Amino acid sequence: MIKDCIFCKIIKGDIPSEKIYEDEHVYAFLDINPAAKGHTLVIPKNHSENITDIKKEDLKHTIFVVKKLAPKVMEAVSADGFNIGMNNFPASGQAVMHSHFHIIPRKKGDAIKLPVQGKYEKGEIEKVKKLIIQKLKNIKLTSSQLL
Ligand code: AMP
Ligand code: ZN
Repeated sequence: MIKDCIFCKIIKGDIPSEKIYEDEHVYAFLDINPAAKGHTLVIPKNHSENITDIKKEDLKHTIFVVKKLAPKVMEAVSADGFNIGMNNFPASGQAVMHSHFHIIPRKKGDAIKLPVQGKYEKGEIEKVKKLIIQKLKNIKLTSSQLL
């Protein structure tokens, strides 16, 4: 619990929310400024800022709840699909510094705009790939270590 965190206050009940699900590790409620009706936020009860500092166990619990809730939310609002999103750091649009996943119900032909599709200049995609691979060179994980 972080004193000035609005999502910690929501979990504690100090700020009201439209809760749709809660267990020992995870809390889910409706976004007050929804991208679409039923827009849901799923948050770990333990405070972390984003995916870089969230504990593995908190992430696991949270994403499994996202998996369970998303199709139910979709059906409840008669949507045809959904986006799952997570903003990380203010540059990405993160406004609340408590890790959260968005479930955004989508309907065929709705006007919600996703990020535009950009372009690489000639040779640029290989350069970007190299930069990322360099950053990954000390990370040697097997899939079993990831879980
Ligand atoms: P993000 O931009 O990824 O940090 O998303 C934060 C989300 O939290 C926004 O979509 C806000 O509309 C939503 N939000 C902020 N305060 C509240 C609140 N008190 N209750 C419900 N949703 C909130
Ligand atoms: Zn918090």
